[in-house]
This record gives sequence, C-alpha cells and structure tokens, in this order.
Amino acid sequence: MTADVVIAGAGPNGLMLACELSLAGVRPIVLERLNGQAKENRANGLVGQVVRALDRRGLYERLSGGAEPPRPSPAFVFGAMPLDLSRLDDNPMYGLPVPQKRLEQVLEERALELGVEIRRGHELTGLSQDEDGVDAEIAGPEGSYRLRTRHFVGADGGRSITRKLCGIGFPGVTRDDSVSRGAHVTVPAELIDPVTGGLNVPGYGPIPPFMHHRTDHGLFVYAPFPTGTLVNVTEWNQDGGDQPMSLDELRDSVRRVLGVDLPFDPPEGPGPHQLRRLSGGNTRLAERFRDGRVLLLGDAAHVHSAIGGPGLNLGLQDAINLGWKLAAQIHGWAPPGLLDTYETERRPAAERVVMHTQAQSALIAPGPEVTALRALFSELLRDERTTKHIAEMMSGADIRYDIEGTHPLTGRPAPDLVLETATGSVRLAELTKTARPLLIDLTPDAALAGALDGRRDRVDLVTAKTSQDGLPTAVLLRPDCYVAWASDSLRPDAKEHDALRTALASAFGPAR
Ligand SMILES: Cc1cc2nc3c(=O)[nH]c(=O)nc-3n(C[C@H](O)[C@H](O)[C@H](O)COP(=O)(O)OP(=O)(O)OC[C@H]3O[C@@H](n4cnc5c(N)ncnc54)[C@H](O)[C@@H]3O)c2cc1C
Repeated sequence: MTADVVIAGAGPNGLMLACELSLAGVRPIVLERLNGQAKENRANGLVGQVVRALDRRGLYERLSGGAEPPRPSPAFVFGAMPLDLSRLDDNPMYGLPVPQKRLEQVLEERALELGVEIRRGHELTGLSQDEDGVDAEIAGPEGSYRLRTRHFVGADGGRSITRKLCGIGFPGVTRDDSVSRGAHVTVPAELIDPVTGGLNVPGYGPIPPFMHHRTDHGLFVYAPFPTGTLVNVTEWNQDGGDQPMSLDELRDSVRRVLGVDLPFDPPEGPGPHQLRRLSGGNTRLAERFRDGRVLLLGDAAHVHSAIGGPGLNLGLQDAINLGWKLAAQIHGWAPPGLLDTYETERRPAAERVVMHTQAQSALIAPGPEVTALRALFSELLRDERTTKHIAEMMSGADIRYDIEGTHPLTGRPAPDLVLETATGSVRLAELTKTARPLLIDLTPDAALAGALDGRRDRVDLVTAKTSQDGLPTAVLLRPDCYVAWASDSLRPDAKEHDALRTALASAFGPAR
C-alpha cells in the first residue's frame, strides 16, 4: 500500500478534502493532470454556509484578507428577484467575493503546510479495486506508473474519469438553448451611482450591482468585484457560434437584451481577464457517490447551473463531510456505516441545489408566462417567511442530517458560540480549526467530562461559560461542526449521560 488516500483533482474540492484528511492525521496524495493552475477563473465568489465552514478552519481570514469574522449579507437574489435579507432575524446567507483561482491558491498553500503531496502533471488513466485497496494507473511526466491506495477519491470535475472508470451513471439533462457571454470591462465612471454602486445605463435606467436583471430578451448582470468589473449577458434560443469571443460580441448581446448601447472599454490592470462564451449547461447527479473504496466528490458527483453560485457551497461542504469519516475509517475507529453516511447526508444537499437552480433557470427564461410567474413570486417574497425559506435553501442552512436525537439542534450546523474559557473569551471558530470532535460543556458543574472516558484520543473537551441567551448547556460537535448531540439541562441526569454516550458511539465509534 503506497498511500491511505489518493485524490484525483487539485480543484477546490480535492484540495479541501486533502486539508481535512491531513488535519485528521491522514496524508493523502493529490494527482492533478495540469502542470500549473487552470487558465480560466470560474467562480467569482462563495455563497452560503460554506463561508462559516471556512471560518471554522481559519481559512476565511486568509481569503477575506481581514480579521473580522464573516457577517451575513443584507441582500441576495433568487431567479433574478431581489431578496431583502436585512429583515431576517437569523439571516443564514453569507457571501465572500473571491475568485476561484485565489481560493485554489489558498487551499493549495494550506494543503502544503499540512504536508499534503500534490503531484502536478499526473493524470489518472485507469482504476481497479479489490477487497483491500485500489490500484490507480497514472500518466506522469516520466511515464506511466501505478499507485496502490486504501481509498481513492475522484474530485476530477464534471467530466470525471473516476466516475466513468467505476461505471457510475450520471443521469440528468443537457440544455443547449441558452448562450451566456461575460467579460471584464471598464465602465465609464459617470455611469456608476456613487450611492448604490449600481449602473445607470443611458436610455435604460438604473441596474443594481450583483443582481441578475431580467428583461424580455435575456438576463443582464453587472458585478463590480474588487478584482474587476464583470458584465454578463444570457440569451435564449440563439446559436453562440464557434468564433473566438470578443467584446464586440458582448456589446451586441447587451444591445439585444437591454435595447440600448452600454459604453464600455477593455479592462484595465494586469488581469487575468475573463472573456467567455458558454453555451447551454448540464444538470446531472451521479447514480451513487461511492463504489466500494472509491468515492466521488464535488463536480464529479453533481453538476448544475451556476445561477446563484451554489457549486462551491455544495462541493466544499461535501469535502468537509467526507474528510473526517474517511480518516476514521483509516484509523480504524469508524462505526459501521459511517462512510456510507457521506452519501446519505450529502445527496439530499445536492438534490436541493439541483432543484433550486432548475427552478431559478425557469424563472429567468423569456416569455409572458414566466413574467406572470415572476409577478406571483415577487408577491410571495414580500412575506418574510418565504424570504427566509429561500435564504435557508440557497445557503444550505436548511440541511438537517439524519442523526438520532431529540434536541432541535441535532443534525444541524453549530450556532456561532462565544465561550468564556479559563484562557479567555473565544469564538467557536477558534476551537474548530483542528477539525477534532468537540464536546462543549457549559453546565455549571462541568459534569460531562466522564462521558469521554475511552474516547479522549478522538474527542476534545471544552468546559466554558457563555453569556449568550438561548444556547444549549452542552453540545457534541462532529469535525464538520454539525451537532451530534445537545442538551438544555443544567444538571444532566443519567438518561442524558446515556444519550450522550450513545451519540459518541454512533459518531466516533466504541470506547477503547
Ligand atoms: C462559469 C462558471 C461559473 C461558476 N461560478 C461559481 C460561483 O460563483 N460560485 C460557486 O460556488 N461555484 C461556481 N461555479 C462552480 C464551481 O466552479 C465548481 O463547482 C468547482 O470548480 C468544482 O470544483 P471541483 O474541485 O469539484 O472540480 P474542478 O474545479 O473541475 O477541478 C477538477 C480538477 O481535476 C483535474 N482533473 C481532471 N481529470 C483528471 C485526471 N484524469 N487526473 C488528474 N486530475 C484530473 C482537473 O484538471 C481539475 O483541476 C461556476 C462554474 C462555472 C463553469
């Protein structure tokens, strides 16, 4: 056995998994067929609960460049309809405008710090497995070779060769009726509203920033990111052609969609600058996420429209879900079936993204029936509960894993706790950077420590106090910061101790 885990693909999800495995004491090998970074930048930002998840690994600060913790966004957009999130009590929608290339750089830096071996220029070409391990065939710079590993993870993108080599189907739909054109541009300063940051298009009117804007002829987006201003236009029932994309082609598309000319110049600064035409799109979900010792991760397991930017919210949280479970399997303490919960927990999350991206794609399409549907939706969105429902769905905050327990937090992401410990006041995010299971005991007598006997090698204990209202008195957190057990009792009785021991056993295996 050369390795415990080999990962195909040093995209964001493969790198995230590599970091999670390393934190859990497993050193993976990452194979990446490209010699350097991908030329094209795809995502321009992270949206949803993934921002909190990255904060809980100390990665938010590196990506945001500031010391402040993440704050929810006051506004977002669903199917090109504005969502006023400022009126929600518990707004779950976080956002971080960061180019995917930067995210990949930060994750690679972190993976290397943690001792991950990344082999660039090494392409997976074949796979076979037996009861004890997986043999991967690789084409490397010095020729072909074979690696034997206990587990193999395909994080090799939507066209995943891992998925194909395992014979896992990828059912879904391919739509070829839309063309999307986007580019970095320079917009004349006098067109930018100094108060809203929006764009005043001569002859058309104001268009808010970062909001999809639908007209009878298509969809227009003006996104002034700190790294450059993007204009993106989507049209339907049009042939994109195969000539190289140009700014003039974008100008023509803007004119068709808005009905007027938008003056803009080529982008300034060193770049890299986007100039892209995308035709159609796929919505597909792998038939299964696991084939014996091989697992699929991120786009290899699911692809969907990029509307609303849900891809990395889904994929990076897949990686955080899988990492500790795979490590537990390798360390030998995983309870039976733990690895299978990767799929039972993450498939519903993927299905929800498929559902809401398809719903949004329907809501941005042209046609009078769609306009009518949007009018109805806009009325519904005036209701705060509807806005909250949609915000929870898009952010992934409505996911509840099927974990046994009666406390309302069970199976949900941990709330943002601020704890008074013997060494001072700490945010939960400062305690979870190590990705270790954590029992947080806030009971007045710190009564729960004994429950960890036989599992102290696997589970850390924090005894603390808090002045926050409405929190449980004890929480057992998995490494992915989901609640495995919680209690509201100030003095937990024997029954609660038993429930805690049961939760410990089902998440972190038998005591030893
Ligand atoms: C236009 C566009 C805009 C998007 N915008 C957003 C957004 O704003 N927000 C968001 O969250 N998401 C967005 N997404 C989605 C996001 O980019 C993807 O979900 C994300 O890239 C998936 O990451 P991944 O690591 O699973 O796969 P990938 O990023 O595809 O990485 C897979 C890696 O595997 C490597 N590889 C492939 N085959 C092999 C092989 N045989 N051997 C070794 N290596 C191999 C590839 O070279 C690649 O580096 C967007 C996508 C697109 C297309």
